[in-house]
Amino acid sequence: MTSRRFCLILLLGSVSFAQTPNSEEVESVYPDAHALYLDLHEHPELSKHETQTAEKLAARVRSAGYDVTEHIGGTGVVAILKNGPGPTIMLRTELDALPVEEKTGLPYASKVRTKDDAGRDVPVMHACGHDLHMAAILGTAEVMAHSKNTWHGALMLIGQPAEEGFGGAKVMINDGLFTRFPKPDVAVALHVANTFPAGVVGITPGVYNSNSDAIRITIYGKGGHGAAPHTTVDPIVIAARTILALQTIVSREVKPGEMAVLTVGYIQAGTKNNIIPDQAEMGLTVRTYKQDVRKQVLAAVTRITKAEAAAAGAPREPLVDRYQGDDSVYNDPALAQRLRAPLEAALGKENVVTAEPITPSEDFSYYVEEGIPGFYFSLGGADPQKFADAKASGTMLPSNHSPLFAPDVDPALHTGIAAEVAVLRNLLSSTPEELHKLTATQRP
Ligand SMILES: [Zn+2]
Ligand SMILES: [Zn+2]
Repeated sequence: MTSRRFCLILLLGSVSFAQTPNSEEVESVYPDAHALYLDLHEHPELSKHETQTAEKLAARVRSAGYDVTEHIGGTGVVAILKNGPGPTIMLRTELDALPVEEKTGLPYASKVRTKDDAGRDVPVMHACGHDLHMAAILGTAEVMAHSKNTWHGALMLIGQPAEEGFGGAKVMINDGLFTRFPKPDVAVALHVANTFPAGVVGITPGVYNSNSDAIRITIYGKGGHGAAPHTTVDPIVIAARTILALQTIVSREVKPGEMAVLTVGYIQAGTKNNIIPDQAEMGLTVRTYKQDVRKQVLAAVTRITKAEAAAAGAPREPLVDRYQGDDSVYNDPALAQRLRAPLEAALGKENVVTAEPITPSEDFSYYVEEGIPGFYFSLGGADPQKFADAKASGTMLPSNHSPLFAPDVDPALHTGIAAEVAVLRNLLSSTPEELHKLTATQRP
C-alpha cells in the first residue's frame, strides 16, 4: 500500500514536472519561430488579403505533423493534432497587418505598399504584433508535436484572418469552424503589447476589454449658396453642435467611475467654401465595459443627434446607424485562476501579474459567445530597459498600431512559446467533463 502510494506520488510529480516546458524544448524550436517572425514582419498583408501569410503558416504546421485545412472564412487556417482521448483546446493567432508606415528603423522593417479595399495606395506593417503571435504558435505547435507524452486530447490551432475591425472570427465561425471541426472545450489566445516588459504575462479574470460599437451618423440639411444661409439648413453647423453635445454623455450622463469612451473619428461634409452642403456624415466609436452603460450611451447618442437636428429645423431626422457592435472578451474566472499556476511554474512567479482590463476591442469575443470558455492573456513586448526608463521618466512606449511599435522579439517570443505550451499542457491534462465543471459558472 505504502509503496503503491509512493509510486503514485512519483508519477504525479513527474507529470507536473513534464508539463512545465523547459528551456531546451523552447530553444529547439526557436530558430524556426524566429525565422517565420522575420519573414512575416517583412512581408505583412492587410486584413482579408493574408494569402501568403496563411500559406506560410499552413505549410510550417503541416510539416510539424498537423492535419491542416486552409481557406476557412477566406484565408483562415485550421490545424489539428489528435493525441488520444481528452478535451479539444483551441489556440488562436491572427494573420493580418495594418495600413501603417513602419518607422522603427529595424533591419527587417516592412517596406510593403499595396492597394486597400478602396483602391488607395497604402503602406502595410505588422503594427499590432500578429507576426509575433504567428511565430509563437509555430513554436508551440512544434513543441507540442515533439512531446505527445505530456498531453492528451486534440490541439486545434487556428490562423484567423481580418481581426483588425473586420470580424474575421465571425466569418470563420460562419464558414463552419465549429461544425466542420470539433467545437473546442476551451479557447486560448494571447496578445503582445508594450504594457509589460518582455518576459512577463498578464492575466485579467472576467472582463478583459471593452464592448466596441461603431456608429455612422448622417445629418440631413438643406443645401444652397454659402452667401445665402437663410435659404438653407446647414448640416455642418448641426454636426458641430452634435459633436459637442455628444461629449456631454460621458462627462454628464454616465456615472463617474464607470468606463465609457465616445470618440468622433471623422466628419465629412461639403466640397467647396461657398456651398452649404445638404448633408454631413460622421463616424463614432463607443467603448464600454458594462452592458448597461453601453445601452445608456448608445441611447443617448441617438437622442442627442435627433434632438440637435430637430432644434435646427432639419428637413429629415438624422440616420444613426450602428453598423458594428463587438462584445468585450470575457475571461472565464475559474480558468484564469487555474492557469496562473502553470504560467508561474513556466515563467517564474514574479513574471505573472494580474492586469487591468484594456479599452481596445478584439473579435476573440465571438468564440466566447459561441459558448466556449476563453482564456485571453497579455504578453509583455517591451524591451525591459526601455520599459523601466519610460516608467522612470513618466513617458509611454509606442502602443500597438503605432509606426514605432517594435516588440523586443527574443524575450517576448521565448516567453510566448513557453506560456502557450504551459497553458495547453495544463488544459490537455484534463477531461472535457472536468473543464465543463470548472467553467460552469455563467457570465454575470
Ligand atoms: Zn490591432
Ligand atoms: Zn492585435
